[in-house]
Amino acid sequence: MSQTVPSTNNPIRELNRCVAIEQHEDGVVVWFSSPDRSVNVIDAGMLSGWEMAVDWIVDAPRPPHWVVFRSRRDSCFFVGADVHRIAEFRDEHKVQQVIERGQRLTMRIAELPVPTVAFIAGTCLGGGLELALACRYRVAVSHRKTQLGLPEIKLGLIPGWGGTQRLPQLIGPRRAVTMILRGRSVGVEEALRYGLIDRIVDSSDIEPDTYRQVIDQLRSCWRRRRTAGRLLAATAPARKLWHYLARRQLGYRLEQYPALSAALDAVMASLRTGGRAFDVERRRFVQLVFTDPAQNLLRVFIDRERARKVATWLPSVADEPPREPERLAVVGAGTMGAGIAAMSALAGLDVWVKEIDLTALQAGRQRVERLMHRQLADGRITHAEFEAALQRLHYTTSWEELHRCQMAIEAVIEQLEIKKDVFGQLDRVLPVDALLATNTSSLSVTAMAQATRRVSHVLGIHFFNPVERMELVEVARPAAADQWAVAMALQLVRRLGKTPIVTGDAPGFVVNRILFPYLGEALRMAQEGISITLIDKQMRRFGMPMGPLELLDQVGIDVAASVAASLVGIQPDAAELAPLFERMLAKRWRGKKSGRGFYVYVGGKRRRPNSLLVTTGAETREDLPGTIPDGMNAVQRRLVYPMLNEAVRCMDEQLVASPWMIDLAMVLGTGFAPRHGGPLRLIHVLGRNVVLKNLEALRACHGERFAPADGLQHPQGSPLSASVEEPNHEHRHPTHS
Ligand code: NAD
Repeated sequence: MSQTVPSTNNPIRELNRCVAIEQHEDGVVVWFSSPDRSVNVIDAGMLSGWEMAVDWIVDAPRPPHWVVFRSRRDSCFFVGADVHRIAEFRDEHKVQQVIERGQRLTMRIAELPVPTVAFIAGTCLGGGLELALACRYRVAVSHRKTQLGLPEIKLGLIPGWGGTQRLPQLIGPRRAVTMILRGRSVGVEEALRYGLIDRIVDSSDIEPDTYRQVIDQLRSCWRRRRTAGRLLAATAPARKLWHYLARRQLGYRLEQYPALSAALDAVMASLRTGGRAFDVERRRFVQLVFTDPAQNLLRVFIDRERARKVATWLPSVADEPPREPERLAVVGAGTMGAGIAAMSALAGLDVWVKEIDLTALQAGRQRVERLMHRQLADGRITHAEFEAALQRLHYTTSWEELHRCQMAIEAVIEQLEIKKDVFGQLDRVLPVDALLATNTSSLSVTAMAQATRRVSHVLGIHFFNPVERMELVEVARPAAADQWAVAMALQLVRRLGKTPIVTGDAPGFVVNRILFPYLGEALRMAQEGISITLIDKQMRRFGMPMGPLELLDQVGIDVAASVAASLVGIQPDAAELAPLFERMLAKRWRGKKSGRGFYVYVGGKRRRPNSLLVTTGAETREDLPGTIPDGMNAVQRRLVYPMLNEAVRCMDEQLVASPWMIDLAMVLGTGFAPRHGGPLRLIHVLGRNVVLKNLEALRACHGERFAPADGLQHPQGSPLSASVEEPNHEHRHPTHS
């Protein structure tokens, strides 16, 4: 990320390491940047710097006629407040102080008696947008990276430095609520339409003496009052109705995420007071910080950053940065291979796509190009980036043409013999030090490595479907793989902007392994006659993005059946599922892609449950003897506990080094209720004893598959012990139903 060094003859005064003031004849530019980071973050130093800048402006012997706040970085205004500091808060008093301090600063900026402009180039999020909102004007540079938003809700929080008060006043309550409650960012065009910014400029290169001109133009412009939803909020009864309707629309999510209620209340208070209810915003923010959802979401955020650092996985390699692959072979351009090839070419790699014959190659090429077109249409890439990536893609049916690649990822069909054959060919043609990787979901990477003469250079790099959207990548490391190979895989994952989790080589790695007992239980419940809509609804209420049967339809019943088959060795009950899958497949019910699975789909849209499946209205027993209340109902307990149990087994087998890795993998790979922070975190919150007792109750009623994992029964010495032994005593049981 480049730095814009003010090129000027004007005097510059450094106020501290973060903030400097450039004095013009009639105004000042306040320059800022975080010195030891790649992006600007609002931490204690930055906050002091801004405070000093405001003091300087107020106390200046010759008051300036205008003030511009701008970043020295041309693609980042602010990414927001320092999340690590928020996560470290231990008492409400400290939170209160920090929020008060930020609110006071924004009020002082808003009250400066001169025109103030936030000059926004690049990311402008959270506290950064709140500082910009306190300025009289906002000017933004037209660039894909210029995005404005208040994403605090994604951390279980609300904006705390005046965002809930100023945004509704500026852009109207309807749009403000959408931005705050969804944590949605907007680009410059949308921001201008909303009235969030006053002007778009083409480039960050502003001649020093044109500031004055820009400000004069802004002052002479008539500012249209934004009306979106304003009538709705004009009178007390209208506001009440609007509040009621907004809450109704949020439904059960209000119970799951207290930040939603808090945000709505703060916006309501803004409407009532003309944007002056800073006390309401402050109080609600402080109440949220120590709730379970906020604490868990903050933890996910921090763990995600941890996972993206190579040193987390390979401490000794960090000193000697590994080689980044530049030339990649992708074998098989089906659903997954096409996604991997397209994303890699867009990330700047030269990619050779290998298919079995010309017809398959042509179809693969179309898939790759369709994906890239979609990225272009969604505004995620520019036309120039699209064209450049097309030039980097090469298509072939010949193994020999892959001879210069430093790395290969195979994504051919899920059959071990075919994959071994592919590995044999890759081993033959690629340089001896090239890395060979498989995208298998469930087969043994070690077995594939044995088809080569380079077992130390073979890994699993498991992407999720759809590749362009799913952030998680499991890097599966067989015992014989060396750390150089892992480092190279991590470099690739980072280059693609994804988050890696390094796991051992065991069927299903971590995510499919933990997900499967859950999907299997849902399938059994459906077979028992329990309503499929009830099963899915209850899991959405628990916090999953979709229910288990909706997910099976999405993945494909055939794909799920083949994963189940490969898990039989480690999950014997998976064998029981085979006939259930076979019965569906015999009727050609392969899920969404075939138009029928658990649901019926018309034109790709889910229409209704598949009435040809048995649903007798059976119920699962609510009152199992020995159950200890845990905030879940019987349907949820039956489905969630298999995941908790399997996550403990993964730890028992040391598939990963620390519990947080499993939690992060489940949240990013499956959307496991982020407010619970992952299965092992949930065990920690509930307490090991509660989970153990409830599994015993489920085992007595439903069978041995609920037998508690070793790590739950004998926590001493288990790699899990430190994380799950002590329940969180401040915890209030979550409510789902
Ligand atoms: P797919 O059936 O869509 O594509 C497979 C492609 O491989 C086809 O285009 C086929 O022509 C090609 N192919 C087969 N043999 C080949 C060979 N010898 N040489 C070159 N090309 C060959 O499959 P997919 O869904 O993309 O899955 C590919 C791999 O990714 C599998 O191992 C699967 O388990 C794994 N995976 C799939 C998903 C998913 O949701 N689809 C998710 C994660 C991982």
